[in-house]
Amino acid sequence: MGKEKKKPNEKNSKEKKSKEEKIELLKTVVLIALIILCLVGAGVIYYFNTQTPEAKEKELAYTELITTINKGEVEKLEMTTGSNVVTVTLKGEGEEKDRQKTVMVPSVQAFTELVQEKVDKDNVEINLKQEPVNIFLRVTDALFSFLPTILLVVLMFMIFKMQGLGGDSGKVYGGEDGSKKSDVRFDDIAGLDEEKNELIEIVDFLKKPEAYYEMGAKIPKGILLYGKPGTGKTLIAKAIAGEAGVPFISMSGSEFIEMFAGLGASRVRKLFEKAKKMAPCIIFIDEIDAIGSRRTSNSGSETENNQTLNQLLVEMDGFDTEETIIVLAATNRPEMLDKALLRPGRFDRQVTIPAPDLNGREAILKLHSKNKKFASDVDLKSIAGDTAGFTGAELANVLNEAAIIATRNKHKEISNEDIENAVKKITVGLEKTNRVISDKDKKLTAYHEAGHAVVSKFLPTQTEVKEVSIIPRGLAGGYTMYKTNEDKYYVSKTELLEKMVALMGGRAAEKLALNEISTGASNDIEVATGIAKDMLTVYGMDDKIGPISLKVDDPYELQIFGDKVIDEVGNQVQKLIEDAYKTAQRILADNMDLLDAVAQALLEKEKITQEEFEEFFK
Ligand code: ATP
Repeated sequence: MGKEKKKPNEKNSKEKKSKEEKIELLKTVVLIALIILCLVGAGVIYYFNTQTPEAKEKELAYTELITTINKGEVEKLEMTTGSNVVTVTLKGEGEEKDRQKTVMVPSVQAFTELVQEKVDKDNVEINLKQEPVNIFLRVTDALFSFLPTILLVVLMFMIFKMQGLGGDSGKVYGGEDGSKKSDVRFDDIAGLDEEKNELIEIVDFLKKPEAYYEMGAKIPKGILLYGKPGTGKTLIAKAIAGEAGVPFISMSGSEFIEMFAGLGASRVRKLFEKAKKMAPCIIFIDEIDAIGSRRTSNSGSETENNQTLNQLLVEMDGFDTEETIIVLAATNRPEMLDKALLRPGRFDRQVTIPAPDLNGREAILKLHSKNKKFASDVDLKSIAGDTAGFTGAELANVLNEAAIIATRNKHKEISNEDIENAVKKITVGLEKTNRVISDKDKKLTAYHEAGHAVVSKFLPTQTEVKEVSIIPRGLAGGYTMYKTNEDKYYVSKTELLEKMVALMGGRAAEKLALNEISTGASNDIEVATGIAKDMLTVYGMDDKIGPISLKVDDPYELQIFGDKVIDEVGNQVQKLIEDAYKTAQRILADNMDLLDAVAQALLEKEKITQEEFEEFFK
């Protein structure tokens, strides 16, 4: 979220970010300093409390002293007022100093009362000294004895502060504190027309709630926005606040997660208290799944999580509809949410925010191309066609990257090539032209990529090859790019099977042409296995297993299907991959000349375009 790359207040937010980073750093330094102080304090106390072995030898236990006095073995007792130490001189031969022992007594007064009679009887010499009061010593003594407690309290206070006990509950836009109002409007959101229509009534309600109340209408308290990261959920929430001209309090679910029990719940309470004072207003909780995931009965952090969620439920039930607070929440994992959150009176309205379709992508690109200079060859419609599946945030990023690439290459305007490079940079990573690659690796990559490209040419459901390259990009040694100019809502079984064949084309080519297989196919294998698993367990596409969903929250739930079904899934996944591999091998074996020609062209040019690739098939 929050990837508003081209907002005018970008500088401010960057400054704020660096300020926040500095505060974070300061907090860490203070924490480390406190820990060091604690350790030093503990060390000092240990040093002062630890006596030398000699002194230890001269110590006597209190009970031993009483026994010794009762036995009549004591010659002299020396005590000092205000101290708990008694020096005992035992009867016997030798120097007086050698016969002396020290004893810690609970209280000198209680001790003298206890032994008075016996001591008088035995004529034990008693020497009671009046110690002058040393204020400095007294104070340092007291300080040292309290030091650990003081340090502990300071440490706890600091941690509590860092955890946000007194911290801010939510970032406010347009509050009475003079904070900047949300300047986002519905016009700043491209595409998503139906979703905007659905939410427009919320804006109207926030603007004139009385009209709705008079009519007896109940407006939803909570609206949940579902969608992939970057689809514009935060943008929509801000736009509602901006259009209605009401304050906007934003907080992320992860900010409620606290180390100390109860703090998360207290933050929720504070957030709603704040909102009530600002009503009419909008509360926006991003990543609500961080606190709103299903409650469990476990202990520890789970209990803390449950408490936070319970508090959220209580608050949502607690405020009156007449309080004119709308709680908007966003998540990209709706399946994780606790059912209680979705009950009437809570988040009873849910709006799905999809990744934009072809027209939506073009509209988003248009919106984000304001303030940018483009060359005449730039066709936003065609870029929209090449970026199926991209979210709004990714599209905004494409144009920003293109501007960076154009500047770096000293272009006067952003060219179509700059944009295409930006798309590749975002999908496959940065081109690494400087990396030294051995001829053997180059050949392997060339056959691997040629394998993907040639195989997919023979698969009717697969899209056209747009570019094949053996120049490393990101983590990939090479890549085959396909055209993505069709927005699809459903994918057929044949298409999935053929996609697996295209994926296995890389390894099949390595084996056929070089009689070797490599680690280069690891990602292809991972993706193909994922497709096979989903076909069987999510889409119910296997005849034997049937149309059942094996996607369960708890692995124990699988037990109802029995081991037979689970084993069957394993066997079928293997079989699907094996079949795909065999099909790829067969296609390539029948077209070895084409495979060799494409691989050879790649070794010579490193990169071939769609037109150059198509030439081989004429
Ligand atoms: P997350 O789930 O990661 O929080 P999000 O769905 O809240 O993501 P936003 O933070 O709202 O996504 O979007 C990020 C940025 O992407 C926006 O600031 C905006 O620049 C751009 N964007 C996304 N969708 C759109 C859209 N429909 N129209 C215009 N810009 C968009």
